[in-house]
Amino acid sequence: MMALDDPRAPLRAYGIAAGAVALTVAVRWSLEPWLDHRAPYLLFVLPVLAAASFRGVGPSLCAAFLGLIAGGAFGGGGLTEPHALAEAAIYLMIAGGIILCGREVDRLRARSSVNTKPSSDPTPQMSSLAAQLNLLIDSAAEYAIYMIDPDGRVLTWNRGAERLKGWAEAEIVGRDVAVFYPKDARQAGRLRASLTRAANEGKVEEEDWLLRKDGSEFLAHVSTTALHDDTGALIGFSKVLRDITDQRAAEKALEASANHLRSILSTVPDAMIVINERGAILSFSAAAERLFGCAEGDLLGKNVSCLMPSPDRQQHDGYIERYLTTGERKVIGLGRVVVGQRRDGTTFPMELSVGEASGFGPRVFTGFVRDLTERQRTQARVEELQAELIHIARVSGMGAMASTLAHELNQPITAVANYVEAVRDLLAHPDPDDFPMIREALGDAAGQALRAGHIVRRLRAFVARGEVEKTVEALAPVLHEAAAMGLMGPRDGGLEVVFELDPAVDRVLIDKVQIQQVVINLARNGFEAMAGGARPTVWIRSAADGPASVRVTVADNGPGVAPDLADRLFTAFVSTKADGMGLGLSICRTIVEANGGRLWYSPRPGGGAEFHFTLVKADMEQADGR
Ligand code: ADP
Repeated sequence: MMALDDPRAPLRAYGIAAGAVALTVAVRWSLEPWLDHRAPYLLFVLPVLAAASFRGVGPSLCAAFLGLIAGGAFGGGGLTEPHALAEAAIYLMIAGGIILCGREVDRLRARSSVNTKPSSDPTPQMSSLAAQLNLLIDSAAEYAIYMIDPDGRVLTWNRGAERLKGWAEAEIVGRDVAVFYPKDARQAGRLRASLTRAANEGKVEEEDWLLRKDGSEFLAHVSTTALHDDTGALIGFSKVLRDITDQRAAEKALEASANHLRSILSTVPDAMIVINERGAILSFSAAAERLFGCAEGDLLGKNVSCLMPSPDRQQHDGYIERYLTTGERKVIGLGRVVVGQRRDGTTFPMELSVGEASGFGPRVFTGFVRDLTERQRTQARVEELQAELIHIARVSGMGAMASTLAHELNQPITAVANYVEAVRDLLAHPDPDDFPMIREALGDAAGQALRAGHIVRRLRAFVARGEVEKTVEALAPVLHEAAAMGLMGPRDGGLEVVFELDPAVDRVLIDKVQIQQVVINLARNGFEAMAGGARPTVWIRSAADGPASVRVTVADNGPGVAPDLADRLFTAFVSTKADGMGLGLSICRTIVEANGGRLWYSPRPGGGAEFHFTLVKADMEQADGR
């Protein structure tokens, strides 16, 4: 078996060298009677020669040293005489020469045994090929490439190996590769195990900590290949190794920073999704998993459009493509409110801001998503409360006004009644003398009735909130807001609100709050009229009404207004509702007229009611002058 892991092998070599010297001492001793102290060092050249030929530099140095001592003893006079000193010096020179030659021969023998087939007559072509191969091996500067014999001794050594491990070719060839391994690896028999495996399997790739000449350790990727001759006998191993200490350290650092980033991202409350230029999901944070109800593992590589409902789902690839070709930003770097779709198909409003990174690798987009469900719910509730508040304020305001009205009207109406009753009594026994008194009483009754009418008009003006403050407004948001305020609750209960707005007539000159009050009133009336009907729908339309005005229509598919009521609709106190005050439409008409328009009713074709009002169209100068 191989001697490479045997720590006693060098000792044995030294022992053999010492033994050879001892044997020489015995021979020299037996010849002493004839030699008589002459040529005391001559025979001790032989053990040096033997050690240099078969046991390497160390043992041959040892043999030379012992030979020097023994030769000195046979010389008799020590090294005090000049001729004895000269003999010792000659001996040392011869021994040194033998050792150097032996080492060179060793190296050449090693190379030729590896580079050429066992042939007694290599062709010149093969020699040049071998030389080129050596050059090639030496030029692989980052790689230590060397060969070892089956016993684990180094046969060849390239420059890369010299650079990587620190040993020069001259000092390592012939030495046991055990020197490359730390003590614990030697004790654990790792080297032996890896060579045995390479011998059995042909090739072994592994990572191991190895030693440099200066004793420092480095992590190496080692590839060991078994080499066989033509007969299949193992002639050694080739070793190719590379220092991967820095590479592993960089990988570890990268992994650590990736873990760090991951741990930060997993705690960020916003969901984070990273996609590539084709929309494929590259990363999906823990918050995103919670928000969308999908695991990262199920989504990686899938198109991000699966997280959105139609029509975005079909169009998202087009959005990215358009951005890549035109650079026009719709979401990137801006942030928008869009709709997301959970795994169970339910949708939710979300705020999306997208960042773009195009560092060294391919471009990626990172989306930060915030769930707006809660916020929108709260906002909707606030709006609902506002709408209710407006309604309650109006109703309570109406109540207060009604009592004032009753009080104020009481007097003229009582007076009218009194006058009329007096006239009735006087006419029971008609007397021409009473006619002037009757005329006067009826005149007073008419005066009191007119006063009552004046009180009602004042009240309507008060409800319409007096002064009108007109500004140029965009009609669409005014109508949307009013519908949101007026129909917040009903909409959740299945009411459908359809907007059919003409964008060409969007600019109007109005008192926004008052006109919104009109729309709220009309829309609520419509909803109340449809109570219990199938597919209740309110339409809000806008259209041009001549060159200078815009017509807004609020329609419903309820029962419509009864024909006998239609004429009196806008009269105060006309109501068919148990708790109705019958003031809404009359106030609406006052408001619309104060804003420079008209309000009227028409039955809706196909059933239901339509209330129309006109508004003054804002011309461009007014719009610009805002
Ligand atoms: P109130 O709502 O307090 O009754 P309004 O002046 O707003 O007072 O409405 C007067 C009446 O007109 C209502 O009682 C109702 O009978 C009728 N009306 C108003 N809008 C509609 C509608 N969209 N469809 C059917 N009837 C309506």
